[in-house]
Amino acid sequence: MTSRTEPTFRESVNMMFDKAISLIDISPGLAQKIKVCNSTYTVRFGVKLRGDIHTFTGYRSVHSEHKEPVKGGIRFATSVNQDEVEALAALMTYKCALVEAPFGGSKGGLHIDPTQWEPDEIEKITRRFAYELIKRDLIHPSQNVPAPDMGTGEREMAWIADQFRRMNTSEINADACVTGKPLNKGGIIGRVEATGRGVQYALQEFFRHKDDVKTSGLSGSLAGKRIIVQGLGNVGYHAAHFLSTEDGCKITAVIERDGAVINDDGININQLQTHLIENKGVKGFSGANYVSNGSEILEKDCDILIPAAMEGVINLSNAQRIKANVIIEAANGPVTAGADEILTAAGTIIIPDMYANAGGVTVSYFEWVKNLSHIRFGRMQRRQQASSNHILVEEMERLIGKPVSEDFKNKFFKGAGELELVRSGLEDTMCTAYQQMHDTWRSNENIDSLRTAAYVLALTKVADSYRALGL
Ligand code: GLU
Repeated sequence: MTSRTEPTFRESVNMMFDKAISLIDISPGLAQKIKVCNSTYTVRFGVKLRGDIHTFTGYRSVHSEHKEPVKGGIRFATSVNQDEVEALAALMTYKCALVEAPFGGSKGGLHIDPTQWEPDEIEKITRRFAYELIKRDLIHPSQNVPAPDMGTGEREMAWIADQFRRMNTSEINADACVTGKPLNKGGIIGRVEATGRGVQYALQEFFRHKDDVKTSGLSGSLAGKRIIVQGLGNVGYHAAHFLSTEDGCKITAVIERDGAVINDDGININQLQTHLIENKGVKGFSGANYVSNGSEILEKDCDILIPAAMEGVINLSNAQRIKANVIIEAANGPVTAGADEILTAAGTIIIPDMYANAGGVTVSYFEWVKNLSHIRFGRMQRRQQASSNHILVEEMERLIGKPVSEDFKNKFFKGAGELELVRSGLEDTMCTAYQQMHDTWRSNENIDSLRTAAYVLALTKVADSYRALGL
């Protein structure tokens, strides 16, 4: 097995595509149209910094425009290259189709090590990159809407939105040109933690499907499960934080760039994150034992493994030794096509990236709708809902002749605000998509995994959309 060569990320995504497309009734021509990336724009631009001109290379790839705008994050990392950006753009097309976010797929990247630059320098670089994309409509509220990804966050999105506004001074929908903005710049409550929250909802839904839990070799509920997390960035941190503080899971190991920390009794994620920010690494954290060879810890015994860092970390070289019963792909593409085959044959359940990390784009969709409607969710209904609930409880108390509990009243009287509505929309999206994957997987014996089921569902929706366009 290990003598096989590892495909690139793009090839890996294509192999998964090929496997699923062979199970769908589709013409070869349409299949090819869906598979290819429509376009990838490469830009090399210079920025004057520290007394000299520095040249940066960036990409924005559009995989499919069967729906517009196209959607997908912009990452800042030294790993960025055309192959990666195109693979990620393709995953965005499938992800949006699967969770019914009405977008085509796109992705951007800038080849940069953000740790090497000061914040005001990153601002200059970001604005210049945004300028290059905006003038080609590769950032635009109705055509192409970026979002945060690895190495970018609210700060970069605020600069991009501001740059768009400066170049389009009379555009009333300017805020909708990018999502993941800070709340005071047109963002939405719950976007920062959305991907991690989505991972939590995905696992909760997995444990509601007893047949899937049985296949994985686990039993019972999420409570008490031993979890290893790779990458304590925005996604990994929020997933680990929610699962340990709200679902009773134990985070037994966390893998970071400088090594891993292990504690079989469970790691306090908030304390670890504080340590990580202060020390730029996990080494020296007092609440767990440190080991320098982090990647070895991916192979440690656990119930659930959450790769939340990079693509390709579970590959032909280590797949045979992975012991987790369930792998949930919080990152994009962490399990290569070859590793996927080995693990699926061994009975490991892989909850695939295009579903598992779709919480981010789902809440991006809500933010985009909020920006276009120019009103916060719940603003009109909250008080009205609260007063209707008051009337209902008063009548109920009159009929039963005794008061209902204060706890019930407090919960029931509170009308839903933006956060409650965002969470409700996200949870519903994650539950519905899982149920569809489960039913597709269990109803067709040629479908061997949740991933193949996710691809079959997504590709069927994209194909239907192309057919309706007359292509
Ligand atoms: N970068 C995230 C992803 O890979 C979010 C994309 C978005 O919100 O558009 O799904």
